[in-house]
Parts: sequence; C-alpha cells; structure tokens
Amino acid sequence: MSAPLLSLQNIIKDYQSEAGSFRALHGVSLDVMEGELLAIMGPSGSGKSTLMNIIGALDTATSGRFLFEGVDTATLSERELAALRNRAIGFVFQQFNLLPRLSARDNVALPLVYAGLSRSERLARAGRLLEQVGLGDKQGSRPTQLSGGQQQRVAIARALAADPRLLLADEPTGALDTRTGAEILSLFKALNRGQGVTVVIVTHDPGVAAATDRVVRIQDGRIIYDGPPERGQLADSGHHYEEMAP
Ligand code: ADP
Ligand code: MG
Repeated sequence: MSAPLLSLQNIIKDYQSEAGSFRALHGVSLDVMEGELLAIMGPSGSGKSTLMNIIGALDTATSGRFLFEGVDTATLSERELAALRNRAIGFVFQQFNLLPRLSARDNVALPLVYAGLSRSERLARAGRLLEQVGLGDKQGSRPTQLSGGQQQRVAIARALAADPRLLLADEPTGALDTRTGAEILSLFKALNRGQGVTVVIVTHDPGVAAATDRVVRIQDGRIIYDGPPERGQLADSGHHYEEMAP
C-alpha cells in the first residue's frame, strides 16, 4: 500500500479573537489517496475553509499532524512550505482570482516564474494548458473579455501550471450558473481521470458532490460522514454531470 497523498491526524484549530478562543475544528482525521476525486461539504461556518487552508499549507493547525506525501509539514521550513504551495498544490477559487490586466496566457504563465523556465518556455506551456482546458483560441483575451466559465478554465489552467499533485478548489462553481458549473466539474473529472491529478473540491452543491467518488461532510468542525455520494444526494441534485473531454 502506498502512503496517502495527504493525511490529517486529529487536527484541532482554534481561532483567537477578543471574544476569546473559538474551536473551528475538533479533531479532524482524514486520509486522501493519490488519484482521488473528493468533495468536502457542510453548512456555512462548519469549518470547510479552515480545513482547506490547512490542507493547502496556507495555515497551520493548533494541534494534530498534517502529512503531505508522508512528510510531516510541521518539520518543513517556511521556504519548504512555500515550495509545497507553489509546486505541489494548485489552488482554484470561487472568484477565479485572475489578474485583470494580463491576458489569459500571461495569467497562466505567471506561476511558472518559480519553475525557472525562460519566458518563451513559460508562454508555450501556458498555451498548451489553455488548449487543454478548451481555451486554445482565447490566449490573448483579458479576463473581462471572457465569461465566468471561461475565466474559471483559465484559473484551472493556471492551477495546473506547475504540474501539481493536488488540485484544491474552494467553491469553484459557486459563482457560475448550473450548466457552466457542470462543465467546470466535468473538466475537473477529466483531469482526475485522464492525468491522475488528485482533486479536492469544497462545495455547497449536491450536484457537484454527487459526481465525485467520495464525499466528506463536516458539521460544527467534525466529520459526520465520509463515504460515497449518498443516494438522497443523487436523487435531490436534479441534474447530473456527464464526463466530458476537456
Ligand atoms: P466554512 O468555510 O465552512 O463556511 P470556516 O472554516 O470559514 O467555515 O469557518 C469555521 C468557523 O470558524 C466559523 O464559525 C467562523 O466564524 C470561524 N472562523 C473562521 N475564520 C476565523 C478567524 N480568522 N477568526 C475567528 N474565527 C474564525
Ligand atoms: Mg468557506
């Protein structure tokens, strides 16, 4: 058996504020294997983003262990953690977070500055990634010239730029209509199936969750369900997602 790609072991997260200490995660344990496509669901305030920030090495737990590729992240220096964020993990956000003054291709090429490629190599790779997400003809377009779904595709191409082991998406379909959201989900699925990229998606949308292999439900900072998409969810979603080539 190979080690999990990531392993959360009894993670507790407390936030400090003037009102005192607030426990957002109450001992969360979760292993994610390489190649999984997983949805994290839960009501607003349940701790999803807190968990994502820990998985993305953007924040640290108050106690418990977080291992990435078998390495305890508590043993990593700031520099090593930055390398983990920049190379091993690709982030996708609800609001796309593209730079408005840059073309699609320049947005995708930007993170490759860390990879030590020449400018022409960066642009060539960005062009290939845009083709991969179905935007080969939008290389020179700025974000404002693209639809929401197209902007999210650019953001996914950018997240893939450093060839990450893990794609981490926080409500990636939250700003999109149902149909466009379904297309974005199909793209994640194709990347997972085709390239074996591990994908973790935080979502409110039961339709998105129903199309994944594994659903983790959080409530009040605790995992209350971890298993295949529930039957009720499939029935309730009202729409389903077809697999699609990117
Ligand atoms: P979700 O993403 O599921 O909506 P969050 O992880 O953002 O939930 O938040 C979980 C809980 O932690 C909420 O009660 C929220 O108010 C609290 N929380 C989140 N961030 C902070 C912070 N920086 N300081 C204090 N409390 C926080
Ligand atoms: Mg959140």
